[in-house]
Amino acid sequence: MNSSKVIVVGAGAFGVCAAIELRRRGHDVTLVDPGPLPHPLASSTDISKFVRMDYGADDVLTDLGAASLEAWDRWNATWPWAPYCETGLLLLSARPMRPGSFEGDSFDRVRARGIETERFGPDTLARRFPAWLRDRYVDGYFNPRAGWSPSGRVVKHLVCLALEADVELREGVRFASLIEKGSRVRGIVAVGGVRVEADTVVVAAGAWTSVLLPHLADRLAVIGQPVFHLQPSDPVPFRPDVFPCWTADISRTGWYGFPANEDGIVKIANHGPGRLVFPDDPREVAAEDFEKLRDFLSESLPSLAVAPIVATRLCLYGDSWDGNFLIDRDPDRPGLVVAAGDSGHGFKFTPVLGSIIADAVEGRPHPRFAWRARGARTSEDARFLDEGE
Ligand SMILES: Cc1cc2nc3c(=O)[nH]c(=O)nc-3n(C[C@H](O)[C@H](O)[C@H](O)COP(=O)(O)OP(=O)(O)OC[C@H]3O[C@@H](n4cnc5c(N)ncnc54)[C@H](O)[C@@H]3O)c2cc1C
Repeated sequence: MNSSKVIVVGAGAFGVCAAIELRRRGHDVTLVDPGPLPHPLASSTDISKFVRMDYGADDVLTDLGAASLEAWDRWNATWPWAPYCETGLLLLSARPMRPGSFEGDSFDRVRARGIETERFGPDTLARRFPAWLRDRYVDGYFNPRAGWSPSGRVVKHLVCLALEADVELREGVRFASLIEKGSRVRGIVAVGGVRVEADTVVVAAGAWTSVLLPHLADRLAVIGQPVFHLQPSDPVPFRPDVFPCWTADISRTGWYGFPANEDGIVKIANHGPGRLVFPDDPREVAAEDFEKLRDFLSESLPSLAVAPIVATRLCLYGDSWDGNFLIDRDPDRPGLVVAAGDSGHGFKFTPVLGSIIADAVEGRPHPRFAWRARGARTSEDARFLDEGE
């Protein structure tokens, strides 16, 4: 594709990395976002996100996770500060790991790629990671090649890199509608009436995407997920060497969390069904989510059950029906590219997503994320979807 004029709508992780890569390939890029950046309500704006390659039996996402880890290493080596912190990931299972379970399949796939994982039973778990209640988790493993990233800080830095790369940033501009000539998309109209014309419009507006493009409402759902910040009086038992990033039977409970950060905050969240919301609704965590957290903590991490919850957040997934991103040209609207459907697991791929989105703009979609018929509701293997299971 020859160089062209591209508007990217949305400056979260997906939009900024796309803007940088498109500019690197010679396109003339305008990035618009209501701001301020990083947008406080964006899913990417957070203190921490997991970076993992443990994806159950999914070889495509396992390999993409491994490629992202290498790309995070490169960013660690070249940025003025390290955006990826490799604490390892402890994956706990309340049942023996076996083929067909998330932990069992992940363990096999990760080991097959040469990662030295350590398997744990209750005794070794209690010795090495004593915050966990003994005997609740009978099996599991530790993957040293995983960790977390301060995602809001990363987006802030990427915005600086986009400006250095001569991306035209229009902070304060809110997309209202597409400019369409016949079936062809020719640009956007912003709230207030400003028109910006382009050859291609990339909509990367996270959970807002299906509100901005209502024809995608049956493909992209907006799902609120509770996030809790706890502050134990003594953070030492929650330091990364004894309390690394963890998942607790995640595909059957949704629970996962992080070690204490430098402020002593332990973040815990749920990768479960969540609840259907509207992106501009008040972001309140429901009373039942607090109860579920308390139940989980008393059954699994009793020393954290007494820790005060010092902050909460309702963070939004833009759920596709099958848990895969939707990154491709819209076949019915030439000139429009969608880069959304993050389904709650997109941030870790930030260092490789720019290329994936730019390839889609240039007509070479990633086979997994390409436009596809809407099928049955499924998810990536770690996600706990069915409360009734
Ligand atoms: C609770 C929670 C935990 C998560 N944990 C992880 C994790 O551990 N690991 C992981 O890999 N992923 C995780 N994710 C998923 C990850 O956050 C997302 O995949 C990723 O941040 C999505 O980025 P995005 O750019 O698509 O969306 P966002 O970051 O939401 O960015 C969308 C942007 O669009 C802008 N926008 C909105 N409306 C308009 C408009 N009208 N005009 C212009 N711009 C507009 C917004 O201002 C925003 O800046 C988690 C998500 C949540 C909610």
